[in-house]
Amino acid sequence: LLPVVVIAGRPNVGKSTLFNRLSGRRTAIVSDTPGVTRDRKDAEALLRGRRVRLIDTAGLEEAAPDTLYGRMRASSEYAVSEADLVLFCIDARSGITPADQHFATWLRRQGRPVLLVANKAEGKAGAAAAMESFSLGLGAPCAISAEHGEGLADLMAEIVERL
Ligand code: GDP
Ligand code: MG
Repeated sequence: LLPVVVIAGRPNVGKSTLFNRLSGRRTAIVSDTPGVTRDRKDAEALLRGRRVRLIDTAGLEEAAPDTLYGRMRASSEYAVSEADLVLFCIDARSGITPADQHFATWLRRQGRPVLLVANKAEGKAGAAAAMESFSLGLGAPCAISAEHGEGLADLMAEIVERL
């Protein structure tokens, strides 16, 4: 059985873009519209010679504002419960949001290993969010740009090290 790596986080942080990068596939739907990923997507990926099962989670599509956190949990709960490693993604450009904080708090309680990923950190965008993200209590962030392909080698090394 392959180790399961789950990509989690609120909508629009770039989870599907990262999924595509790591899997080398174009199966996940990437969109500017939050919540456009309808289903969990699975792919086998080869990360530095290590085969893993990669899962892109949906986020919180069609969530009413008052049930936002509940839906976020529900859609990612099963995937996270199966995870050997969770890549918890935040957006380095927007910084930490209440949704990120809520999700991080929930994630810490799940007891699965978590690697914090600060995406959209191309150029100098990552520095402030990287500092801020320590407050999530999930350790040091791995700064990447999924879209521009920056920091991915280091991220893959970090993933493999933790499996
Ligand atoms: P998801 O909802 O978390 O799956 O996010 P998506 O992968 O669908 O991406 C949401 C938006 O962020 C899209 O417009 C992507 O092109 C954009 N995006 C993804 N990764 C990056 C990145 O590294 N840098 C920047 N600037 N934008 C990104
Ligand atoms: Mg998506």
